[in-house]
Amino acid sequence: MFSYRHGFHAGNHADVLKHITLLATIRLLHKKPTPLLLIDTHAGAGLYDLEDRFAMTSQEAHEGILALNTYYQNKNISVPQGIDDYLQEILRHNLSKEQIRYYPGSSQLFLQTLRQDDKLRLFELHPSDFPLLQKDIKHYQQSQNLARQDIQIQHSNGFNGLKAFLPPPTRRGLCLIDPSYEDQQDYLFVMRALESAIKRFATGVYLVWYPILTNKNAQNLPKKLQAFCTEKNLPYLQAELQIKQMTTSSGLAASGMWVINPPWQLQQMLEDVLPFLKEALGLDQAANTRLFSTTED
Ligand code: SAM
Repeated sequence: MFSYRHGFHAGNHADVLKHITLLATIRLLHKKPTPLLLIDTHAGAGLYDLEDRFAMTSQEAHEGILALNTYYQNKNISVPQGIDDYLQEILRHNLSKEQIRYYPGSSQLFLQTLRQDDKLRLFELHPSDFPLLQKDIKHYQQSQNLARQDIQIQHSNGFNGLKAFLPPPTRRGLCLIDPSYEDQQDYLFVMRALESAIKRFATGVYLVWYPILTNKNAQNLPKKLQAFCTEKNLPYLQAELQIKQMTTSSGLAASGMWVINPPWQLQQMLEDVLPFLKEALGLDQAANTRLFSTTED
């Protein structure tokens, strides 16, 4: 159960899609001043070193953030707002814009964008990643003088813990559900967590990351999400990125983000972002993107 370490995958193409979508959603929700409750059910380790033994073994960032940054720097072109914003948040941790070494995961991005009255709740179950997350958060809070912000980190199961925080008193909130799916049960737990969360807080914004794979559980998850949203009459947006042919040996080729109750203009932002990502990260003819939304911006 604890074999998965996000350090092997940090900054890969799936993280790029996930974190651009997450950041854009946070920015759009921040257009209103009412405080937000932000929840990361699978927080990971915080800040990742792309030169540590995990990242160096997998080299996955070379098909993700490093490829995107090289493309951006070499072409010297203007980029869609959602990508520019994302790159700026990453560059905050790096001395040179030509060489990205440190990569902020979702929990770190939540932290960097947290406003004074927002609340942040993070769950991480891994016995090695949890203390790393604690350390990163503490270090960041101290360095930025943010010690008074309302942040809780739990060494517990995010699928189960989520509902205890819902609904938030301000009735405004965003939850990222980002399991690794190494355990096939995660497909089931995502749906169960969403069902109980929506019962308590139907107007919340929920972002679910999913891998696009050939196995049955992975293929069924978007279908289940669609059926769920249709039954509950929930607006949703689906963004997918494929960077290469799907083969059994070349690692993850594609992934998607499912956003329930997407904020206004998210669709427009991703319409600009996705073709750019295909151009920058696409490795062969199979490179593709897909964007579907039940709402109109
Ligand atoms: N959200 C992170 C990001 O975007 O940077 C990456 C998260 S990674 C895909 C999934 C994480 O969830 C791993 O660090 C794993 O240890 C942790 N995990 C696995 N099962 C969990 C559970 N039931 N509750 C909380 N954390 C869990």
